[in-house]
Amino acid sequence: MNKLNYLLIFALFATSCARNPVTGKRELTVISEAQEKQIGLESDPQIKAEYGVYEDAGLQSFITKKGNEMAAISHRPALGYEFKIVDSPVVNAFAVPGGYIYFTRGIMAHFNNEAEFAGVLGHEIGHITAKHANEMQRKQLFTQLLLIGGMIASEQFRQYADLASNAASVLLLKYSRDNESQSDKLGVEYSTEIGYNSHYMAGFFHTLQRLSGQSGAVPTFMSTHPDPGNRFVEVNKYTDVIQAAKNLDDAKLMENRDTYLKMIDGIVFGEDPRQGFFENNVFYHPDLKFYFNVPNGWMTVNTPSKVQMAPEANDAILTMELEAGTDLNAAGKALVERNGLSVVESTNTTVNGLPALAILGDVIPQDQNGQQGEAIRAMVYLINYNGAIYNLSGLSYKKTFNNYYNTFQNSMKSFNVLKDQAKINKLPSRVKIVSAKRDYTLQEGLKDYGMPQARFNELSILNGMELTDKLKTGMLFKVIEERRNK
Ligand SMILES: [Zn+2]
Repeated sequence: MNKLNYLLIFALFATSCARNPVTGKRELTVISEAQEKQIGLESDPQIKAEYGVYEDAGLQSFITKKGNEMAAISHRPALGYEFKIVDSPVVNAFAVPGGYIYFTRGIMAHFNNEAEFAGVLGHEIGHITAKHANEMQRKQLFTQLLLIGGMIASEQFRQYADLASNAASVLLLKYSRDNESQSDKLGVEYSTEIGYNSHYMAGFFHTLQRLSGQSGAVPTFMSTHPDPGNRFVEVNKYTDVIQAAKNLDDAKLMENRDTYLKMIDGIVFGEDPRQGFFENNVFYHPDLKFYFNVPNGWMTVNTPSKVQMAPEANDAILTMELEAGTDLNAAGKALVERNGLSVVESTNTTVNGLPALAILGDVIPQDQNGQQGEAIRAMVYLINYNGAIYNLSGLSYKKTFNNYYNTFQNSMKSFNVLKDQAKINKLPSRVKIVSAKRDYTLQEGLKDYGMPQARFNELSILNGMELTDKLKTGMLFKVIEERRNK
């Protein structure tokens, strides 16, 4: 058990009574402010290690400035906040107790003005000021923070036993529907207070709704949040109420479309191939120079520390990560011990000429109360390549494992040395901000800048517009530029 887990157990048993900063009501405080801070301090380095920080000085200074400005007018101005952009293409934002707020580069690319950003910023600050972590189910908080903490020892198996966790849900702390609605309201209040028109915040829920209809993109920000269609209506209504109360209207509040778009010109869009990328059911890693086959139709998530793949049914998971050391048998022994695996079979073999160790084993997961879960079977291939050990692990419930046996084998045994220069030299796509050359529709504008028809739908969502919406001459909009160095 690592330090974070100890801390959480401590935190979860220490309760007291205090006033909620937002509602003013007395409530049972499960986590003190010092403990909140501690959770944030412990989680932050793990989140950064897991996703990487997206380096962009301009954007970083913008989110810090707006974040601090909003924190100052919030219900907990003295807490101390940190605002970061993580290097993930997923469209998401999340808050961790203690004042830690994260945006993905994916969500930053999808905002079309400062007002949308400010609304989501307010929503996330709201989770912290209203102390929503307090109200999380004990088990849920535990599981979710473990998820963020990453794959730690036998926790790895433990979380797979919990169907709440799939490869795509890693990025988010789950709050209740009531908490989400309250955070939406706080998002309206806070962003209005610093001068933004929160009707645009409502509009961003429409973008999330459209994204959820697209295959491949999994906007987790939305999947664990209430129905975005409903939020669109509620946030618009509440904006009217707040604006009226403050004697404001849209004309007196900021959108700041152009300033925002210019700030995100050149932001990496989609996967960054330098960290590995998926293409036609194959995962390629240009830096580490390997590839392997991905099961057809599985959801995929690639983070700097691991690749995760899961089927729609969510009853199996396939992961790839680096194992410590360089000795196959020592690594195998450590892995078995770490996960409390009962070995069924362990074989020294080769994969495409690379030395490998194949392990089949079982584990019965236990939750934090010592309750036994459904038995899990694991297939692990440890492959020695280029002075490192690659761990490909496939897990499923014992009763469903056979359905996945061949799928796991096909992926693991396809691991091979990457020599294809086209794959090795692939550069990331980036958002490019361009201006309309004349009055035309978004669709005509996209065509004008040579965008392929196959990407029109994706690009209309990225622009927060319909293809038939009109662009005026000189109006800025987004296109995607392939293979450009910034
Ligand atoms: Zn939320």
